[in-house]
Amino acid sequence: MRSSCVPALGLLLAFTAPTSAQSLIPDAKPTGAILAGKLIDVRTGAVRSHAYIVLAKDKILSIEDKAPAGLTVTDLSAYTVLPGLIDAHGHILSDPTSQSLAAGLRTSIPQSTLWGVYNLRLWLDHGFTAVRDACEGPPDYPQFALRDSVNRGLILGPRITAAGSCVSLTGGHGDGAPFSADVNLPAGENIADTPDEIARVVRRDIKYGADWIKLMATGGVMDPISDYHVQELSEEQMAKAVEVAHRAGKKVMAHAEGTVGIKAAVRAGVDSIEHGTMLDEEGAKMMEERGTWLVPTLYCFQHDMETGLSKGRDPDSFAKGQEILAAQGPAFKLALAHHLKIAYGVDDDDVDESVSREFGALVAGGMSTLGALQAATINAATMLGKDKLFGSIEPGHFADIVAVKGDPLADITVMYHVDFVMKGGQVIKDPEHPDRNPVIHMH
Ligand SMILES: [Zn+2]
Repeated sequence: MRSSCVPALGLLLAFTAPTSAQSLIPDAKPTGAILAGKLIDVRTGAVRSHAYIVLAKDKILSIEDKAPAGLTVTDLSAYTVLPGLIDAHGHILSDPTSQSLAAGLRTSIPQSTLWGVYNLRLWLDHGFTAVRDACEGPPDYPQFALRDSVNRGLILGPRITAAGSCVSLTGGHGDGAPFSADVNLPAGENIADTPDEIARVVRRDIKYGADWIKLMATGGVMDPISDYHVQELSEEQMAKAVEVAHRAGKKVMAHAEGTVGIKAAVRAGVDSIEHGTMLDEEGAKMMEERGTWLVPTLYCFQHDMETGLSKGRDPDSFAKGQEILAAQGPAFKLALAHHLKIAYGVDDDDVDESVSREFGALVAGGMSTLGALQAATINAATMLGKDKLFGSIEPGHFADIVAVKGDPLADITVMYHVDFVMKGGQVIKDPEHPDRNPVIHMH
């Protein structure tokens, strides 16, 4: 299987012809333009200098060498311009200030939803114009309300693709009640111990608006009770989830850390493996053959070691995090060696501190700088099935555009500070107007 992450052959090729989109957007009239000092084509790695991106309202109309007459031009000639970034593994409702189980119990669903409003602004501020929510706890799905409210313009945020509940076994990674047996909380709507129960839970997610289904294929790290080495949902359960979801036109992602559970999820036909922390040779081969996506979330595990217990994390959970970190590097090297399809995902509750840092972790782990940029743009968009809408700067796509100082192909850490952000033709962040859409930083 050819990887979309291999270093591109087209690196030195110039764009051969002006790209025009008149046919893609019928009757569209240009409404403005962006002058890019350097423009990276993330499909090939080709860099075009001094290019005009012509906009038609929320879309890209064409890319030209000369300024079209009479248009207002946003001057980004001092910057490198890229498509809006995509985080394919977020948890929108997270409180970035606490990892305490008790604080979680004392946080209402309305409060979590407002944390979501806060977090969405941070994704945008760091250049992420799309995010895939990788499941939430509340049974009434605030992530769908946030997604729909962004789409209707009620709040500012990236384009959201959302999973529903964290589908889990009783006592599994997604069991939201890791307490003693005499604490009698009702079982969550996300709990499924048989294939029939899986079908019901998946149908419930779809009924209320899920774009993706999230399965807990193995134990995990952040909860204090599950064992990340072991498989949790059975292969039969996961295959049932895939059958029900795919029939409805939805995709399936699987949280999978331990080796056995990764392979069971791949055999069951899931679309993406999340983390893949203990991937082995056989698992990597299976993913390569089937074209299963990997969302490695490397930085989150590393960042957790710096945070330690300072945000009230359970010590049992922290010990698991320390232990599993050793598996991460070798597994990611296997993924690269097998040319797996890789999408950028962060999974860190502290969006402000972490969302851009995965770029550095991917490159430190052995990925090329172009590969890391592709993971966060065209690859993630392709995994989401939205590569005709966003993920690259081309005619007909949404005008989701970011700009950075310097050359991220030479130094990926340039991506840690995004200076300019446009989503759907709307300027969110602009170095000329630092007071525009100010963001509150919680630390
Ligand atoms: Zn996650």
